[in-house]
Amino acid sequence: MKNIPVTDNHIHVDPLNGEGPIEVANKFHRAGGSFMIIPNKPTWTVNENCSFKDAMELVIRYVDEINRDTDVRAFAVVGAHPAELSRRVKAGMNLETAELQMRDALKNAQKLVLDGKAVAIGEVGRPHYDVSPQELEVHNRLISYSMELAKDVECPVQLHTESAGSEQFLEFAQMADKVNIPRNMVIKHFSGAFVLEKENHGLTPSLIATKDVVKTGLKKGKNFLMETDYLDDKTRPGAVLGPKTVPRRTLELLKQGLIDEEDAYLIHVTNIENIYNIDLGV
Ligand SMILES: [Zn+2]
Repeated sequence: MKNIPVTDNHIHVDPLNGEGPIEVANKFHRAGGSFMIIPNKPTWTVNENCSFKDAMELVIRYVDEINRDTDVRAFAVVGAHPAELSRRVKAGMNLETAELQMRDALKNAQKLVLDGKAVAIGEVGRPHYDVSPQELEVHNRLISYSMELAKDVECPVQLHTESAGSEQFLEFAQMADKVNIPRNMVIKHFSGAFVLEKENHGLTPSLIATKDVVKTGLKKGKNFLMETDYLDDKTRPGAVLGPKTVPRRTLELLKQGLIDEEDAYLIHVTNIENIYNIDLGV
């Protein structure tokens, strides 16, 4: 069973606040993991003066380090987290200027995808906390813009949103339709077990790899990805699942006979290759 490839679709690495790319990748690999899809961390986790561009360059560097020095293959995802907008507004920046900065950042993310340095735009979206109607409107505009940019370079978008059910999935699906990006290229990161099409409306759910969510999801189908949203932040241990979770969960499901090797291959290889348009070489 050791040779079954396993992908964590949303895992962070952070050498400033956590263990960093090599440690995390080695832990993931020792547990049976093969591929890591790594979105950049927000600018404020780097330092006060970190620009969007810097934060994106950093994750690309970490991915390079993992690919050079470990047995894991990593891919970067670049974007501007919705909380970046809120933080700027809270710090006194006017909403228009903040929106322009976010748009600039997203444009830069698109360029990195075009240059082959990243495989998707994300995480982008809207906050999980309440904001003013004016600010919410900007978040929604930025989601549409991200989808538009992704569509132009044929890459997916990873969405961070408030806790979403069928109603929100439909809303994002309609936003996707408006800019003509295929719905399955919109990945809902940190998703519940919304695996049926009538629940996710064609978006790709990236299931948070708890026992409950994955087992419930599997009863409905296999058209999903798995992730931990590991933060690699020592000040927030246990805020999310650890880096070994996706490989361990997958092996456990195999042992229990809840999936077979073909199912695992579909979730961890075929689905990933189709959505990101990459070749994992397995
Ligand atoms: Zn994240």
